[in-house]
Amino acid sequence: MEKVDLKNFDLEELEAFIARHGKERFRARQIFKWLYQKGAVSFDEMSNLSKEFRRELADSARISSLVPEAVEVSMDGTRKYLFRLDDGNSIESVLIPEEDRNTLCISSQVGCAMACEFCLTGTFSLTRNLSTAEIVNQVCAVKKEAEVKNLVFMGMGEPLANLDNVIRALRIICCDDGLQFSTRRVTVSTAGLVPEMDLLGSAVTVNLAVSLNATTDEQRDRLMPVNRRYRLKELLAACKRFPLPGRRMITIEYVLINGVNDSLDDAKRLVKLISGIPCKVNLIPFNEHEGCAFKKPTQQAIDIFHKYLLDKHFTVITRSSRGTDISAACGQLKGRLDSKGGDL
Ligand code: SAH
Repeated sequence: MEKVDLKNFDLEELEAFIARHGKERFRARQIFKWLYQKGAVSFDEMSNLSKEFRRELADSARISSLVPEAVEVSMDGTRKYLFRLDDGNSIESVLIPEEDRNTLCISSQVGCAMACEFCLTGTFSLTRNLSTAEIVNQVCAVKKEAEVKNLVFMGMGEPLANLDNVIRALRIICCDDGLQFSTRRVTVSTAGLVPEMDLLGSAVTVNLAVSLNATTDEQRDRLMPVNRRYRLKELLAACKRFPLPGRRMITIEYVLINGVNDSLDDAKRLVKLISGIPCKVNLIPFNEHEGCAFKKPTQQAIDIFHKYLLDKHFTVITRSSRGTDISAACGQLKGRLDSKGGDL
């Protein structure tokens, strides 16, 4: 019989599993703490469980973990981790150091089915969803060597296309007995899967980022095929009704591409589209990559776009690209999809 991986359970599911073994529910909390706060990788370490219970657990369950196969460090301190999965596929996570906090960017799928024109990951199509364990193990692995304050689901894949596993991972990540992240410090980013945005919002409390990237349906159809399924109007309505506690805001991400969506007219249309949505705007100058004809915007275009939004009283951040020298920047992750299992 195949052993179940305990890292695929949220706390409630682990409690049910423990109950099936005839043990007290609170044992699940103890195990959770061992897994996520002490980083246990074997049952032997769990010294507050009886030897007999540990043996029983080891008979029916296992504890998975990820160990980085390679770590690349950028000149700006950004670290890109390559993880090999059990089936030979690989994924990447990126740790972005900032003055007083580190942000970890994690993957939710091997490859991606969204096929956005400007994104390198999208050119490799979808191989498979990550399991809950594979999602949380990226955090566990990086936490072993660095403090992680913020978490963003902005690596490879479309998190909302792997909704069940992402929700379960979020429950573990934000659980007091689990990875103990504050929900304020965790952000899920989506290309705009409208029904799943609603499901996510009703299942968990988390920050939402939406990759808008265009200001007309025509333009967005061309850049992001998902727009043919969910039009701008529907997407923005879903943003409006997304439940956010207190004064939290949605993040609107907008990749600026030279001559495509970076004009002042675009900025004006963008303001019209998002007024009425409590949001802040992240402008991401396009990161060029081989095989993609798009070009990065000029500094002047960035400045004009940025200033227009500021003048309209939006909170705007133009994201400086981090880790470009190691292909760790937005839209540059591929987890060696082109050389699966090949040499490093
Ligand atoms: N699928 C999700 C999660 C990936 S996040 C989503 O689309 O939101 C990756 C972010 O990087 C997205 O906002 C995307 O628009 C942006 N991006 C993709 N390729 C890029 C590139 N070449 N240059 C700059 N940003 C890019």
